Amino acid sequence: MEKWIKLALEMGFTEAAPLDPAALRPLESVRAYCAEEKCGYYGKSWACPPACGSLEDCAARVHAFPKGVLLVTQAHREDESSFDEIIAVSRRHKARHYAFAEKMQAALPRVLALGSGGCSLCETCTYPDAPCRHPDRMVSSLEACGLQVADVCRDCGIAYHYSGKTITLASACLFEE
Ligand code: SF4
Repeated sequence: MEKWIKLALEMGFTEAAPLDPAALRPLESVRAYCAEEKCGYYGKSWACPPACGSLEDCAARVHAFPKGVLLVTQAHREDESSFDEIIAVSRRHKARHYAFAEKMQAALPRVLALGSGGCSLCETCTYPDAPCRHPDRMVSSLEACGLQVADVCRDCGIAYHYSGKTITLASACLFEE
C-alpha cells in the first residue's frame, strides 16, 4: 500500500489514503443524482446508470476487492463563479487518475478504477450501439456506484472541502495484489 500512496503523491495528487472497500456503502439517494443528468453522462455511457447496473450490482463489484486507495486533488480557483476553472482542475485530476490506474493495471491482476465524473477513456463512448471498447478499464464514477464522496473521504481520514474558491475532487482505485 505504501508504494501506491507514494506514487500517487509523486504523480501530483494532493492527498492519497488507504480505502477499505468493505466499508463502502452505496446509497440509492446518491445514485439518484445521476438521473438528474447534471453531468451529462446519464444514459450516454456504459460506465454510468442505467448501463453500469443496479446499485446492488455496483455494491457487489466494489465489495469484491480487498484493498483500495483514495486519490484526492484539491485546488483553489481565482474566481469562485468560474466554471472553466472547475473544468480545468477536473481534466487534470482525471488524467492523473487514469495514468495512476494504468500503472496499477500493469502491475496487479485486478484493479477497479472509480472516478470523478463519467468515463472519458475514449473520445466518444460506443454506448449504446456497440460493446464497451475497454470493459476491464472503463471508469464508473463514485456517484454512479452510489458513493457519497464527502463520506468516503471522511472515512479515509481526508477532510473534504468544496465551497467558494476551494475545489476538491476524489477518485479511487480498488485492487487485489
Ligand atoms: S471505455 Fe470507452 S466505450 Fe467503454 S464506457 Fe468508457 S468511454 Fe465508453
